[in-house]
Amino acid sequence: MPAHEIRCTQCDLLQIMDALQPGQEASCSRCGHHLVRIHRHPFDASLAYALGALILLVLSCLFPLLRLKIAGNFSEMTFLSSAKALIDADFGLVANVLLSCVLFTPAVFLCAIVYLALALKYAKYWPGMRSVLRLAVLLEPWMMADVFVIGILVSLIKLASLAQIALGLSFWAMLLFSIALTKTVVVFDAHWFGFQLDQLEGLPAQKLRGEGAVSCYVCGFFNPQQALKCERCYARLHRRKPHSLSMSWALLVTAILLYIPANIYPMMITESLGDKTPSTILQGVLLLWNMGSYPVAIIIFIASVLIPLVKFISITLLCLSTQKKPNHKALHYTRLYRMTELIGRWSMVDVFVVVILVALIHLGQLMSVYPGVAAVSFAGMVVFTMLAALSFDVRLIWDAQDAQDLSNGK
Ligand SMILES: [Zn+2]
Ligand SMILES: [Zn+2]
Repeated sequence: MPAHEIRCTQCDLLQIMDALQPGQEASCSRCGHHLVRIHRHPFDASLAYALGALILLVLSCLFPLLRLKIAGNFSEMTFLSSAKALIDADFGLVANVLLSCVLFTPAVFLCAIVYLALALKYAKYWPGMRSVLRLAVLLEPWMMADVFVIGILVSLIKLASLAQIALGLSFWAMLLFSIALTKTVVVFDAHWFGFQLDQLEGLPAQKLRGEGAVSCYVCGFFNPQQALKCERCYARLHRRKPHSLSMSWALLVTAILLYIPANIYPMMITESLGDKTPSTILQGVLLLWNMGSYPVAIIIFIASVLIPLVKFISITLLCLSTQKKPNHKALHYTRLYRMTELIGRWSMVDVFVVVILVALIHLGQLMSVYPGVAAVSFAGMVVFTMLAALSFDVRLIWDAQDAQDLSNGK
C-alpha cells in the first residue's frame, strides 16, 4: 500500500501514512487508533478462517451443546432448541437477540468475507463488492459467539453441584467456531480490502485532499471535501455524526430506564418439586455466593451489574467531556470510549445463561427453569447501551482540544 494522506476516524488528525508491506500495520500518531493492518496472506488466511468458521457454525447447530442428568432423568439442549424453548415461553424477542447475535450476524459476516476474499484472491470484480465490504464492517460489533461460549461454561459450573452435566459435541464446535470467527475479524481489514478493490478496478491512487476532506469511518478511504458518500464503499460521509450527542443521550436514558425493571423483576423462575422460586439478578448472584460458587458469582456480578454501570458512567462522562473546553484529557477519554465499545457485548452473558438453563432444565415438576421478564429488559438494555456508544462521535472530544490548540497558536 503506497504512502497516502489519511484522517484518523477517532481524533480527526490529518496525517501521512507511510507505505506499508504485508505483515505491517499503522496506527494514528496522536491517539494510537489502529488505521491499517496488512496480514501476510490476507486473502488466503481470511478464506481459511471464514470457511472453517462456517463449517464449525453448522456443526455447532447439529449436535447437543450440554447434557444433564438429575435423579435418573436425562435432558439435553442444542443451540436451536434453546431458541425454540424461548419462543415456546413467549420470549420471542430474546430468541431473536440470541439467533441474530450468535447465528445470523456471524453467518452473514463470514459469507461476506468469503465472497470478498475469493474475488480478490482471483482478481475478479463481482457485483456488489463495495456494499458487501460495508456490510461486513457494520455487522462486526454485533457478533457474540464468544459471549455465548462463556455463557455455556458459566451454566456448566452453575449446575455442576446440582446435577451430572456433560459437554456435548457441539460445545467444542461452538468453541472452535468462536475462535475461528475472532481470527477472521483480526485478519479482515476493511481499509486494505477496500484498497485492493480499487486496484482491481484500476482506480487511480488517492490524491492529496487537504484540510476539508473526510475519512470514511467504515473503510478508512480519504474522500474529497464535497463528497456526500464514500467513493469506495458508498457509506454516508459526515464530518461529525449528525445529532451524535442527542442520540447518545436518548439511547443512554432508554438503557438506564430498562436497567431498572431488569433488576427489580425476576431474571428466571425455578420450579422444583412444585415450588416456583423467582430470582432477580442480585438474588442469583447471592445464591451462587452462598452455595460457594465464588468464580461464577463474580463473573455474573461483573457482567450483569458492574459492566452496565461502568458503561452508563463512561457514556455520561464521554458526552459531558465534549463540553469541556479546553479538554486536556482528550486521549484519556478516547481510551475510555474504546474500553466502553470493547466491554459492551459481555453483559449479555447472564441473558445467555438464562437461555441455556431454560433450554436444558425442563423436567416438569421435578425441576424446570422459565425465563423471567427481566431477561427481556436486560437484553434491551445491553442493545441500547451498545447503540449509545456506537452513536457517540469520539471526534467531538478532540474538537474541544483542537479549538484550544488553535487559540494557543500551536
Ligand atoms: Zn487518531
Ligand atoms: Zn468507505
